[in-house]
Amino acid sequence: MNYGAFFDRAIEGLKSEQRYRIFANLERDARRFPYAIWRPDGPGTQPREVAIWCSNDYLTMGGHDMVIDAVVDAARRHGAGAGGTRNISGTHHPIVELEVELADLHGKESALAFTSGWISNLASISTIAQLLPNCLIISDALNHNSMIEGVRRSGCEKILFRHNDMEHLEELLNTAGPDRAKLVVFESLYSMDGDIAPVAKIAELAKKYNAMTYVDEVHAVGMYGPRGGGICEREGVMDQIDVIEGTLAKGFGTLGGYIAASSNIIDAVRSFAPSFIFTTTLPPTVAAGACAAVRHLKASQTERARHQRQAALTKHALSAAGLPVMDNESHIVPLMVGDADLCKKASDLLLERHSIYIQPINYPTVAVGTERLRITPTPRHTDEQIGELVEALVDVWQTLKLPFTSAAIVPLRRPALGVDQCTYPEMKRAAE
Ligand SMILES: *Cc1c(COP(=O)(O)O)cnc(C)c1O
Repeated sequence: MNYGAFFDRAIEGLKSEQRYRIFANLERDARRFPYAIWRPDGPGTQPREVAIWCSNDYLTMGGHDMVIDAVVDAARRHGAGAGGTRNISGTHHPIVELEVELADLHGKESALAFTSGWISNLASISTIAQLLPNCLIISDALNHNSMIEGVRRSGCEKILFRHNDMEHLEELLNTAGPDRAKLVVFESLYSMDGDIAPVAKIAELAKKYNAMTYVDEVHAVGMYGPRGGGICEREGVMDQIDVIEGTLAKGFGTLGGYIAASSNIIDAVRSFAPSFIFTTTLPPTVAAGACAAVRHLKASQTERARHQRQAALTKHALSAAGLPVMDNESHIVPLMVGDADLCKKASDLLLERHSIYIQPINYPTVAVGTERLRITPTPRHTDEQIGELVEALVDVWQTLKLPFTSAAIVPLRRPALGVDQCTYPEMKRAAE
């Protein structure tokens, strides 16, 4: 048997479906974000400066002086590693402090940190559902892969409700009946379309039909709510959701994931989840950095306000130039291409001709026919850089003969939005 041939064939299959992923070799510069050094592959290529427009370090907290100082200080004091699983090596002080901050952020009794957001979903959803007798998991159809893996791993019966469709959710809850154990799993902010779930309605339905709720706030923590507690904080429903899951790697700029919930739920996950028990915990450096970011964003509105402003401005400018930006109520700026090959070509052209890095988003991350460039402006992208981005995209659209749309066809929710007239609640609050 030629084992190698199987791997070659698997990769060829991906390539023929335009699904083969190439990772750009980027050297980020904490001081000079969004600029980074790109090292292209291949003979005769030279490293080049590029501007990054698709980072999930949404608020650039990863490059914040206070976060960097906390990481360096923790490394000097405690060393580089955690020394083992919490079971074996005990639990280090920076992670205890971090969990206290996270529980407080969400108004919960306790929190538990994991090595990633992906692992926190896998561990928590599977463990919670497994401990409940004959649990039915009711899951939004567009949930992230980590939640799907958690649902699968639980081995419980699952049923999907149509994305953000409250009538469908109610129908499923009603059919299951009030007596059966039910866990509703959903995201507060979906990262590809940037749409926001009706979290208050979900909480209300769950209460009516006696179901537990589990929300993934990965794309909202740090960025929404008066203290960065996410969409549930903004909507005033954190206390009505049983389990809030978040990441430390996006809005908080470091690494790791967590859940916040009542003490008994946290104790159960801590005690029963193999993907928590049998793996080395986050090192003190990361815990200290994340803790600094969480603390800072609880008090400061500056980053949130500027983030919303730059995202709104980017949408406005793209739309005004006739580029097919998808409207939504969040910081995510999806620019629709609708074809895998053209999406890749647009991304390549942006990088090679304009030194702008935006990863193409193709199937299976999004549905076939909805391929896009997903733009994530940060507080550190200037108005001038937004202008440069729009010019570059117009050139790419013309070169590839991609369709322009009139600004009137894709209306922005805030059509007359001027640079200083953003109407997002975070901005209002910041201005007060
Ligand atoms: C990125 C992501 C995760 C995983 O978080 P990591 O900390 O990157 O592992 C979980 N849920 C959603 C919705 C995500 O987009």
